[in-house]
Amino acid sequence: NNETIQCIGCGATLQNQDSQKSGYLPASAYAKIEKAIENDEEVEVYCQRCFKLRHYNEIMPVQENADDFLRLLNHLLETDALVLNVIDLFDFQGSMISSLPRFVGDTPIIMIGNKIDLFPKNTNLRKVKDWVRQQANKWGIYPEEILLTSGKKQKNVDELIDLIKKKQQNRDIYVVGSTNVGKSTLINSIIKTLSGVEDLITTSRFPGTTLDKIEIPLDDGTSLIDTPGIIQKDQIAHILSPKDLKLIAPQKPIKPKVYQLNPGQTLFLSGLGRFDYVDGPGKQSFVVYASDDLYIHRTKTENADAFYDKHVGELLAPPQTEQLEQLKPLKGLSYHTKEKSDLLFGGLGWITVNDDVQVKTFSPGALGLGIRRAII
Ligand code: GDP
Repeated sequence: NNETIQCIGCGATLQNQDSQKSGYLPASAYAKIEKAIENDEEVEVYCQRCFKLRHYNEIMPVQENADDFLRLLNHLLETDALVLNVIDLFDFQGSMISSLPRFVGDTPIIMIGNKIDLFPKNTNLRKVKDWVRQQANKWGIYPEEILLTSGKKQKNVDELIDLIKKKQQNRDIYVVGSTNVGKSTLINSIIKTLSGVEDLITTSRFPGTTLDKIEIPLDDGTSLIDTPGIIQKDQIAHILSPKDLKLIAPQKPIKPKVYQLNPGQTLFLSGLGRFDYVDGPGKQSFVVYASDDLYIHRTKTENADAFYDKHVGELLAPPQTEQLEQLKPLKGLSYHTKEKSDLLFGGLGWITVNDDVQVKTFSPGALGLGIRRAII
């Protein structure tokens, strides 16, 4: 048949002709997918590049920069548009599309910090917003407005719609975000509020489920354009299995867990994070904000390297043993806090520490690590 098949990762049209161009799949894999689609079987259709990205954390260069997504973004420069940039508050670094600043020019941006429903009730939302703005600026994005939302729990969706109406001024709206930030869920939620239609766009827990570009006509003649979620290799989500992904990503508001540590003690956040209390004024409380299902292990820092080597993939899992090869080794960053601070572990959560303590945080390749003023 003549229907084109799109990669659910990057939205490129699949082809088996040119391995240097976007959407390439080897002929054998391509044939399999065609057959499965004929038989109405469910398949995960990824181009080779996105597949490798998901499974081997490898970036394959694409010769042309005619990547559908980049073309779409390029289009922004020529159109009078309003951009909604959706980011996952749990994984700011993993959410950022690094090429976005190049494409937005003077296009106004509303930044949406999504999944706010996972934050504890006593979160200081103003501090969260300040942090989001700081991070955005660091990436070269200067949003006109920042809104904290939950598409899933319908938080601030009405406010978002009001804000869009106020800012839109007859422009088309481009919703951009990397995969898994909750973009589809949020758009569904917007549409539901606007029109009462449920689940227009398929959502799922797995990265890369938005198909190509989806254009939703609005009453006033403008459109809401859902761009394909771009796969961000800095998201740990692309290495872990869906099951583990579900395990590490909190599914309900996170509850604090307090650990009393002495200098020279270490916490492992499964095998994906490590926190050392290096030095400070004696015994301290450290408050871990992460999924209830995430295994946390306390040990002496002097034994931590050996402990990790021995137990990663088993006691310290995820990652699973077979994923270790694709995962960068743990890399650490040192901090000396000047105020009560949150030490961030992208995709996992954070650990709140008092001021004037020296700590070191680790993650695979130091991805997603950071610090912010405590928000609670
Ligand atoms: P997309 O790839 O950006 O379109 O993301 P999806 O809408 O498919 O959602 C990705 C994952 O995040 C799914 O597991 C969703 O259930 C979850 N998710 C989406 N929105 C929210 C939200 O507002 N809060 C929470 N806690 N999870 C969300």
